[in-house]
Amino acid sequence: MKIFVINCGSSSLKFQLIDSVSEECLAKGLCERIGIEGGMISYTPAGGEKEKTKVEIPDHKEAFRLVLEAMTNPKTGVLKSTDEIDAVGHRMVHGGEKFACSAILDADVLAAVTECNDLAPLHNPANLVGVNACKELMPNVPMVGVFDTAFHQTMPEEAYLYAIPYEYYKKYGVRRYGFHGTSHHYVSQHCAEFLGKNYEDMKIIVCHLGNGASVSAVKNGKCVDTSMGMTPLEGLVMGTRSGDIDAGVLEFLANKEGMDIKELLNMLNKKSGLLGLTEASSDSRDVEDGYFEKKENCVRAQKSFCYRVAKYIGAYAAAMNGVDAICFTAGVGENSPITREMICDYLGYLGVTIDKEANNKRGDDNIISTADSKTTVCVIPTNEELAIARETARLVK
Ligand code: ADP
Repeated sequence: MKIFVINCGSSSLKFQLIDSVSEECLAKGLCERIGIEGGMISYTPAGGEKEKTKVEIPDHKEAFRLVLEAMTNPKTGVLKSTDEIDAVGHRMVHGGEKFACSAILDADVLAAVTECNDLAPLHNPANLVGVNACKELMPNVPMVGVFDTAFHQTMPEEAYLYAIPYEYYKKYGVRRYGFHGTSHHYVSQHCAEFLGKNYEDMKIIVCHLGNGASVSAVKNGKCVDTSMGMTPLEGLVMGTRSGDIDAGVLEFLANKEGMDIKELLNMLNKKSGLLGLTEASSDSRDVEDGYFEKKENCVRAQKSFCYRVAKYIGAYAAAMNGVDAICFTAGVGENSPITREMICDYLGYLGVTIDKEANNKRGDDNIISTADSKTTVCVIPTNEELAIARETARLVK
């Protein structure tokens, strides 16, 4: 089957066309600045050159039209006709408590997703705009929603409840949901496969360290805790997000700086994390370079980032009463040996020893702990698009 995988933001549309049998990516690309002046589409067919075209993209429907046109272009396209697309898999951000697994996007399911809009007011409406635009252009193609929150729905109550008045949970569903679920699921499952072990018998900690970052604890194939909360703001130090913080800081800064709640949340989401601590960059490559040059701002940011991850690993080893494997994934987790090393330096009590040479290798699935390390540490590149394609193929079969 040919599966069209879509990740729609409010002004962007990322896509891949994946063959669900060979699991090859046939083409991929991105539309940027949808509805904003200065639009751009980039398109790369498998084995071909990346093409970038400046074009105004007034709305998502036009974005889809451009993408379908690129994929069926007689010269660089990979399809003769859009009829070859068997199904569409949409990345959906927030499924609330309604979705513990992926679902065919029929009218009932779309209504249920709409009910989750309050929980993710920036992301879910954008996802829905994408689904509707796609349906208009391909009305007869089955569409599946794969939720970022679904994998975490197995968390027990003690892990997902906030210790605030219970009525807010009952009235509004205020609780921890977690995100990056597709990645945590894919990576933990793939880790067991890679190590030749039974997924259902393992305790795995996945560190998804990208611009957004989260850790999860996966016991016997089920997520039992994760670091992001009702929104992606909780947990680790991220590119621009603070992660965990005492809510009392908000009142203090509101008084001192005259900031309202919107400004405070904007500060925590967009101006904090690595960016806030370095006062210079949210990109971990810059932070790493500065760390090696012993720049004070980058040293404090890099150390804070690694310390927070190590703290979560400790908490999750406790939550699962042990850990068999720790996986690093996503932009930073896959590409930054120094970050992995600094995190693992805290893990002596788990019997973790790192093989420096293995840790410096780049690329595929890789074990970076020594043969006698009590806990296995590995790098497992994530592939959320492939995971969405697999789910989509499974549901439409
Ligand atoms: P997201 O999907 O959340 O936007 P990614 O998983 O793509 O994030 O990760 C982006 C982060 O990965 C950036 O901070 C970037 O600097 C970092 N990154 C990418 N390549 C490298 C590298 N070679 N070394 C260190 N960090 C890297």
